[in-house]
Amino acid sequence: MSEAMSSQSPPPPLLELKDVWRSNNQGGSKLDVLTGASLTVRAGEMKALVGPSGSGKSTLLNIAGLLEQPDSGTVFINAVDSAGLRQGKRTLLRRQHIGFVFQFHRLLPEFSALENVMIPQMLNGLDKFEAADRAGQLLAMVGLQDRVDHRPGLLSGGEQQRVAIARAVANAPRVLLADEPTGNLDPDTAKDVFGHLAAITRATQTAALVVTHNQQLALNMDSILTIENGHVVALA
Ligand code: ADP
Ligand code: MG
Repeated sequence: MSEAMSSQSPPPPLLELKDVWRSNNQGGSKLDVLTGASLTVRAGEMKALVGPSGSGKSTLLNIAGLLEQPDSGTVFINAVDSAGLRQGKRTLLRRQHIGFVFQFHRLLPEFSALENVMIPQMLNGLDKFEAADRAGQLLAMVGLQDRVDHRPGLLSGGEQQRVAIARAVANAPRVLLADEPTGNLDPDTAKDVFGHLAAITRATQTAALVVTHNQQLALNMDSILTIENGHVVALA
């Protein structure tokens, strides 16, 4: 490879949606939510997905995260075409390569912060000592080294979301999907949590797609996308 190419070629897309169509059934009638939605997110890149309620943001994120199937179109995760995969392979691809953060943390209430970050790693085959070691490092990255033994109920809303971020990247996913991760937080806490999300995305060179209603946070990402008439459109 020439020097010019190696310095100029952009990092590979880790998440790619190509011509995704999806309709939902609403009260007996068909509602077209996505009508040829396409997007690309590269390593280390953060893209914001904004738009009114009901425009299809969660639908798109769930399809990108292989939680839901499109009616047609393709989702590539780390260049792997997910469309042709059987259920077991899809689940494996999701577990190994995709991390999720939701508006409500969905942490397991009866487990400590450390255990919440250990569990996905153990489900992925790590032994508990390795998992605990990595969980401790990830919680330190989000500033929670003094909270590892706390259960979610003893943590603030912002701390809970920081644990959820550490958990989302526990298995070193290539793609990080967040659906209104700060939607439940006051503006200052939202800014802080977003800072951790951004730092971890850069540090791990993950491709992040973040649904948000927070204009300030959207402006801090690499670009801003919205869904218009079922298509993904770049606003900035
Ligand atoms: P957003 O996240 O942008 O608010 P959604 O993706 O949740 O939008 O929803 C897009 C549209 O699809 C909305 O009109 C919503 O009511 C509808 N919808 C979402 N999920 C379902 C479902 N499981 N069954 C039927 N309709 C749904
Ligand atoms: Mg939504």
